[in-house]
Amino acid sequence: MMEYPLLLSHLFNRGRKLFAKKQIASRTLEGVFRYTYADFAGRVLRLMGALKGMGVKEGDVVGTFAWNDFRHLEIYFAVPMLGAILHTINLRLFPDQLAYIINHAEDKVIFVGDDILPLLKPFIDKLPNVERFVVLAEKENAVPEDLEGALNYETLLETAGPIEPRQDLSEWTPCGLCYTTATSGNPKGVIYTHRGLFLHSMATGMVDSAGLSESDVVMPVVPMFHVNGWGIPFAAVGVGANIVLPGPKPTPKDLVELIEAERVTTVAGLPTVWVGMADTLLNERHDVSSLRVIVNGGAAIPKALIETFEKKIGVPIMQGYGMTETSPIVTVGWIKSGLRELPYDELLSIKAKQGLPLFGVDFRVVGPDGKEIAWNGKEIGELQFRGPWIAKEYFKDPEMTKASFTADGWFRTQDIVTVDEEGYILIVDRERDLIKSGGEWVSSLDLENTLMAHPKVAEACVIGVPDEKWGECPVAYIVARKGFQGSLTKEELASFLKDRVASFWIPGAFYFVSEIPKTSVGKFSKRILRDRYLSGIV
Ligand code: AMP
Repeated sequence: MMEYPLLLSHLFNRGRKLFAKKQIASRTLEGVFRYTYADFAGRVLRLMGALKGMGVKEGDVVGTFAWNDFRHLEIYFAVPMLGAILHTINLRLFPDQLAYIINHAEDKVIFVGDDILPLLKPFIDKLPNVERFVVLAEKENAVPEDLEGALNYETLLETAGPIEPRQDLSEWTPCGLCYTTATSGNPKGVIYTHRGLFLHSMATGMVDSAGLSESDVVMPVVPMFHVNGWGIPFAAVGVGANIVLPGPKPTPKDLVELIEAERVTTVAGLPTVWVGMADTLLNERHDVSSLRVIVNGGAAIPKALIETFEKKIGVPIMQGYGMTETSPIVTVGWIKSGLRELPYDELLSIKAKQGLPLFGVDFRVVGPDGKEIAWNGKEIGELQFRGPWIAKEYFKDPEMTKASFTADGWFRTQDIVTVDEEGYILIVDRERDLIKSGGEWVSSLDLENTLMAHPKVAEACVIGVPDEKWGECPVAYIVARKGFQGSLTKEELASFLKDRVASFWIPGAFYFVSEIPKTSVGKFSKRILRDRYLSGIV
């Protein structure tokens, strides 16, 4: 066979040649900007010319600090197709973490949205490697005078000549860089290669997977700074789907209106998005019948929410699971043909699992005794992966690499799981979140799921806290649904749990709060809750 390099330019070329008329719609604060793949491609080629003109070359790192919009999508392709590395920066990190990752990555150029530029301003003079900022804005928006040498994106494109993607790159060339949201210590970087993301795009497009196809209208709500936007931008252009980008700070109502107006078929994001969207859809009249599937990922989705979407709103939810280190998608919760006739309750239990590994990745689950666990849905162990889109190391971090990758070549996820007889993986907990009470394991995730099935509970987050008698015991933080704040009681919740979980799972305390603290990507932050609890604040 030929030695054909698996490069992202293949996806771009396929998109522009075969699907030139397909559409990209991008929400702005003024309305929806819309153009074709042909227009998109023309601008990408000019952006490549502009980057080359700025001296960006193979191996250089180019940062983006941007929303999910059409300019960000252009940069997603232009940077890797030059042989440079796209570093998507998480807008929600703290200033110290932002400065750390920009300096650790050695970003040479940063593309930044004009409305979020103020977030970088406080430490802009502490970024010695950044040679230039390019401000993502309309041409008429002047670049701030105090940002030395900054350029306006549209002016830059206007003055640049197009160049073609490099075809002489090796498929092993680094093309992307993303930092994990650290729970302690500094964020850890992961380098992606053309080959890895090419194969990841193919796998996500397979039917027994997310099944992204040309006939889809796909809307990634997951931020494009979160692990390659789950690979959707690359895969969508490769298969020729219409793309809808939700732009700056979309509210649940904005998202629902986009789905309705653009006839979106596939939408992907974290559970917090679906909580907001369910509320909007249950309280207002909107036509979301175009939706084929909602892809949930990033955190487990409560069964009750899956049921609400499926039964009351009429849209199926499918789970994907992954991590920054795994590009990210490694499992998808599609239902095997032989299981589709099961009673709804049983189907729901399967859908609430993280799913089956994708074609192309290997997994194993290692129990506390160091041996692989049996697939019986009961034994627990750490989930480990290897495969063509799994990282083999952390960027410039040999110590963390040693701790997270095994000597025989597997990546340790630190997620504790069971595997059932059919091979479906269920995350029981993150290693550090698992609670051991009186020598027995309590799954905080399972407990949260059960609590969130209570009709008066909007959000529930469970942590383990030190307990004199049991060693550790669970405590629950509860956000009551609108209308029940102040009236929902701990007795009500304890009695609800009594018939549903073992007695030692019932939390030692219930704290009613107005909000659960979230991480920079919108997951429950158990670390903040634990810190608060230990310092006496609830
Ligand atoms: P990140 O690297 O920020 O994407 O975080 C990865 C972690 O998110 C995983 O190790 C899991 O603990 C969690 N995660 C991702 N997807 C899911 C999912 N579908 N269900 C449960 N947890 C998930």
